[in-house]
Amino acid sequence: MTQVKAYAAEKADKPLGPFKLDRREPGEEDVEIEILYCGVCHSDIHTARGEWPGTIYPVVPGHEIVGKVNRIGSNVTKYKVGDTVGVGCFVDSCGHCSNCEEDLEQYCENGVSATYSSYLQDKKTITYGGYSTHIVVKESFVLKVSDKLPLEAVAPLLCAGITTYSPLKYWNVKKGDKVAVVGLGGLGHMAVKLAASMGADVTMLSRSPEKAKDAERLGAHHFELTTDQDNMKKMAGTFNLIIDTVSAKHDYNEYLALLRTNGVMVILGVPPEPEMVYATSLIFGRRSLVGSLVGGIKETQEMLDYCAEHEIVSDVEIINIDQINEAYDRTISGDVHYRFVIDMASLKN
Ligand code: NAP
Ligand code: ZN
Repeated sequence: MTQVKAYAAEKADKPLGPFKLDRREPGEEDVEIEILYCGVCHSDIHTARGEWPGTIYPVVPGHEIVGKVNRIGSNVTKYKVGDTVGVGCFVDSCGHCSNCEEDLEQYCENGVSATYSSYLQDKKTITYGGYSTHIVVKESFVLKVSDKLPLEAVAPLLCAGITTYSPLKYWNVKKGDKVAVVGLGGLGHMAVKLAASMGADVTMLSRSPEKAKDAERLGAHHFELTTDQDNMKKMAGTFNLIIDTVSAKHDYNEYLALLRTNGVMVILGVPPEPEMVYATSLIFGRRSLVGSLVGGIKETQEMLDYCAEHEIVSDVEIINIDQINEAYDRTISGDVHYRFVIDMASLKN
């Protein structure tokens, strides 16, 4: 075991603070990574603040990890010391269920091992995430990261990037498709960039008028306010695909009405409370309401390679680890442009 510095929430109603953590010595198939940057996802906040059931305290959040390989196990073949690598939302899965066999480890039938507040496959060892100086991860769950792009801006691709890339691919977004993105935050800004890069006609649906200029800069072709009811009515029956990234309770029916016949609305945001859907919102127009969870390892690598090729990164604001609680508050109030990323050097000092 090696003791490393970290930041943890000890309880739902306590701010995050310094914490010491034991990382295992790298086993034969493990890669030990020195973490350089870690993005701040709204899921970190939901988990740390106990908004979803099942948080294991103390929790060290963070699943948008980029760093350098520090040590490798004797059987590791894909990586060598000094390589730039990433780790996303999960660190292991059973490897033999039908979903794992189809590169859909995130839907592992025996329970995926999430990067934090979860258990390894022994179902006993608790996982701790990227708000720490080092992490040890099985080689097959480590991603290759190109050195071509700024690493701090690549970190958010490991969750916000893959979570939006995966449904855009699955629902086969192509040139000319009308795609709407709801909520301009971490996931939302990546959805806009990626959908635009695939040739879609992208509309940003937001409650925040001050974000209109940014939406355009990020690649949205249109910006529409969701707080204006007349505006919402005007858009009825418009979109082939809606990507919903909103983190708080909101009325799905209002957005379903904006879909064309056979249109699909993908829920990515995870509001803590349930939401009611009218049967008629789906029946008229044969509309679908679906969900999507991050993406498998193979697809995450494909997304990272795609982003390197198309020079797509996240718009980030770099913070020191001791600014994390303030960053959480600012994210909740919508004051994030468009992802906070922790410079992990601030934890080492
Ligand atoms: P974020 O940066 O906070 O962005 C969420 C955006 O939603 C806000 O910027 C805001 O956009 C909008 N919003 C927030 N509160 C709202 C409210 N009360 N009413 C209407 N709109 C509101 O969060 P994120 O990191 O992108 O994460 C978004 C959600 O996705 C979270 O629930 C997170 O847990 C979830 N998530 C899911 C997956 C998955 O695999 N499915 C992966 C990662 C994260 P506007 O100001 O533009 O309206
Ligand atoms: Zn996330």
